[in-house]
Amino acid sequence: MFIESFKVESSNVKYGEHEIESVYHYNTTELVHENRDGSYQWVVKPKTVKYHFKTDTRIPKLGVMLVGWGGNNGSTLTAGVIANREGISWATKDKVQRANYFGSLTQASTIRVGSFNGEEIYAPFKSLLPMVNPDDIVFGGWDISNMNLADAMARAKVLDIDLQKQLRPYMESMVPLAGIYDPDFIAANQGSRANNVIKGTKKEQVQQIIKDIREFKEKMKVDKVVVLWTANTERYSNVLVGVNDTMDNLLASLEKNQAEISPSTLYAIACVLENVPFINGSPQNTFVPSLIDLAIQKNSLIGGDDFKSGQTKMKSVLVDFLVGAGIKPTSIVSYNHLGNNDGMNLSAPQTFRSKEISKSSVVDDMVSSNGILYEPGEHPDHVIVIKYVPYVGDSKRAMDEYTSEIFMGGRSTIVLHNTCEDSLLAAPIILDLVLLAELSTRIQLKAEEEGKFHSFHPVATILSYLTKAPLVPPGTPVVNALSKQRAMLENILRACIGLAPENNMMLEHK
Ligand code: NAD
Repeated sequence: MFIESFKVESSNVKYGEHEIESVYHYNTTELVHENRDGSYQWVVKPKTVKYHFKTDTRIPKLGVMLVGWGGNNGSTLTAGVIANREGISWATKDKVQRANYFGSLTQASTIRVGSFNGEEIYAPFKSLLPMVNPDDIVFGGWDISNMNLADAMARAKVLDIDLQKQLRPYMESMVPLAGIYDPDFIAANQGSRANNVIKGTKKEQVQQIIKDIREFKEKMKVDKVVVLWTANTERYSNVLVGVNDTMDNLLASLEKNQAEISPSTLYAIACVLENVPFINGSPQNTFVPSLIDLAIQKNSLIGGDDFKSGQTKMKSVLVDFLVGAGIKPTSIVSYNHLGNNDGMNLSAPQTFRSKEISKSSVVDDMVSSNGILYEPGEHPDHVIVIKYVPYVGDSKRAMDEYTSEIFMGGRSTIVLHNTCEDSLLAAPIILDLVLLAELSTRIQLKAEEEGKFHSFHPVATILSYLTKAPLVPPGTPVVNALSKQRAMLENILRACIGLAPENNMMLEHK
């Protein structure tokens, strides 16, 4: 059964006028390696830490500024939100289609809240805590191409033509602000697009981005802004001693107009200085160590990297299943071809390399979790191929072959073939990223022994379900397995309303 909303009644939760306060008992374990009776043993000690959570329930008017607004993702997302807001439907060759938010974790998935008369009761994910309604988001942003969003939507060739016709009047007046362009960081084949660029030194460019954010906030009358990079994949920037290795060096390099600071890092610097959350949806190392230092210093949210939309999402499910079932993946070969502008940009070796790195580490945590299947340091062969085939446009093909060793030396090979519009996968993920980033800035927590409430760590691991190569604070484990990432997110939001984590034990039926 499905219910729209619910309220928790418990001594662990208090609903105030502007906030929800909760008490949460975090059950975890502590490990010690001790000499007992002459030999070393691992000892696991369960422990419980009492946490307090405080969530501001006032929903702001949210502005979202996309870097690469006129790209396939940017135009598709903007169009999709307008279509939902305006309740647009359109004719396809199959049926009359209505706008929806399918593919969005917050808008189209559910959580189990309990059972009633022996029946499982589910509620929308978004009913856990007050979140911004995506229909109310005001969009803006930058692009190095000055094409208006209606024409950009047509250039993307993603949405049905009848829908495009209805959306055109809403989108014609939306024109991206000039962007920071540095041809050294993206493929040379993007040069013909760059007719809308910010002039000046890198410092002046950062100042312009800050000015743009302030003006957007003022003009659109929004309370909060989140910035998200959905522009071209850049090449990796070199982390150079004395240039961008520490926060002080990065800021000094900005003054000196140092060449190795990428455009994406410049946008990120502007956002961190302005205390505006910045999310990176592409694979490059925007968050060089010095930028992470800066974000920690300013306590400004950063999250990334690279939207986890298709092939990698499947991988973080399938390998988790195989390794969790005691089956040993030994070779994973992932081939893609696509024909959109992203594919064209990725046809240059330097930008492809960023994508290859981002896609490569996704099975590491699952492999290292099973010392029965893998020797220390052993890893499956893992190869990634991406080819540009213009004819298929945004309709990406992904072909994957997983070979595993099974019982008694047997081999099992699974082959997957997926055909899908890339931007229709990415758009709802962008939505979740900005909605959850905004929500997480309204949550404060403290462990019992901590004196004061504080926000989550500025490196937002809470977003990791949505990203291919989750950015984590220095020294923190990376979790790629999709079910663990979802459980983490859901359980943290449950903690904010004093609910125990979903443990799936269903003891009442045992
Ligand atoms: P796209 O090429 O259609 O759009 C990118 C836009 O960014 C273009 O309009 C371009 O003009 C603009 N741009 C480039 N550099 C810029 C800069 N410095 N400042 C401002 N604008 C700039 O690409 P897309 O299909 O929308 O994908 C966007 C990004 O998302 C790519 O990096 C892609 O790898 C990444 N991504 C996409 C998916 C997916 O499923 N679609 C998944 C993971 C990651």
